[in-house]
Amino acid sequence: MNPEALRADFPILDLMVNGQPLVYLDNAASSQMPQSVIDRLMRYHKSEHANIHRAVHYLSETATREFESAREKVRSFLNARESREIIFTRGTTEAINLTMHGYGRAFLKAGDEIILSALEHHSNIVPWQMLAHEKGVVLKVIPMDDSGELIQEEFYKLFNSNTKLLALTHVSNALGTVNPIKAMISHAHQYGVPVLIDGAQAAPHKALDVQDLDCDFYAFSSHKLCGPTGIGVLYGKAELLERMQPYQGGGDMILSVTFEKTDYNVIPYKFEAGTPAIAAAVGLGAAIDYLQEIGLENIERYEHELLDYATARIKELDRIRIVGTAREKAAVLSFEIEGVHPHDVGTILNDYGIAIRTGHHCAQPVMQRFKVPATARASFAFYNTKAEVDRLMEGIVKVQGIFQ
Ligand code: PMP
Repeated sequence: MNPEALRADFPILDLMVNGQPLVYLDNAASSQMPQSVIDRLMRYHKSEHANIHRAVHYLSETATREFESAREKVRSFLNARESREIIFTRGTTEAINLTMHGYGRAFLKAGDEIILSALEHHSNIVPWQMLAHEKGVVLKVIPMDDSGELIQEEFYKLFNSNTKLLALTHVSNALGTVNPIKAMISHAHQYGVPVLIDGAQAAPHKALDVQDLDCDFYAFSSHKLCGPTGIGVLYGKAELLERMQPYQGGGDMILSVTFEKTDYNVIPYKFEAGTPAIAAAVGLGAAIDYLQEIGLENIERYEHELLDYATARIKELDRIRIVGTAREKAAVLSFEIEGVHPHDVGTILNDYGIAIRTGHHCAQPVMQRFKVPATARASFAFYNTKAEVDRLMEGIVKVQGIFQ
């Protein structure tokens, strides 16, 4: 894999920001789109656009075919058994809310327990909390240690006959911790507990196989995967999806409607009410083609090397604390500079054309666990280079100089 060559596929990486070449290290928030995805979106809008599933004319058939072909690309990307197990959503957040509604609200009752982890993004906490308030469901939290790893012995202790769901992130967006989800899924299944995996931060960085993982649900977003915003995916095992309640009512999710009664459509359409983000789905399909061409294994290997390099370089600096030192991490370096608020770090780095994220990263419980209000977070993609990591380190030294 040649990151320098791949950079040429991303026009936005040529931007100058504040007189400096852009160093884009906010990939965990959203990654950038290659020209092939931009071109694919343009082609869809110029010559393929119409509403799907409802007409027999040429354009509608074309748009339907391309939309369904994107679903098949997602199926292959996740190695799901069948494309009807792939539901298009607005993103990870909507995928989790769909599961909360269709599975949690439909089947859980007062006293039932859901296990979450201390590493979750707000989007895998708040929906379950809403369910807890509404139904009297109880939330249990797997704690983490000082490195940001979930404590497996504590995880085992949380299971009992009331446990009805495990909702767990694959990779932490705030710390980069990679959870041993295969073993954790297998443990939950010993208790007959289904598992939802929040894959928002894993899908861009790892080859996935939902059949091998044996997860019951897997959620991710296109915009972190070199695709457009407005589209994401919920994978669910067919037998579960078939039993679940629809999330929203409306067009496309029905077989027949009278004023007395509605018969719902088959999966996945039962969960796709209304006109979906057709162009975005087609764009996601193109992003998957692009990533598969590079190879997710190659991406993972290279990003690992880059993260190791960045971690080693930042450790050479004084008055820095890395937040999150798990043994297995993916593409995220969260840190604090002693005596400097993370927002100042982000603002000054921006003056040098370097884009990082500062804040609580929608994971306030993680910040509370590490007793920090916020961190500075550099997050990498395969198109980042060691030279860019060096620019980040120079930037950090400049920040320290200003605050000395
Ligand atoms: N989970 C994790 C781990 C995330 O990093 C994010 C995005 N920051 C989300 C869920 C939510 O994704 P989206 O905003 O695309 O719905």
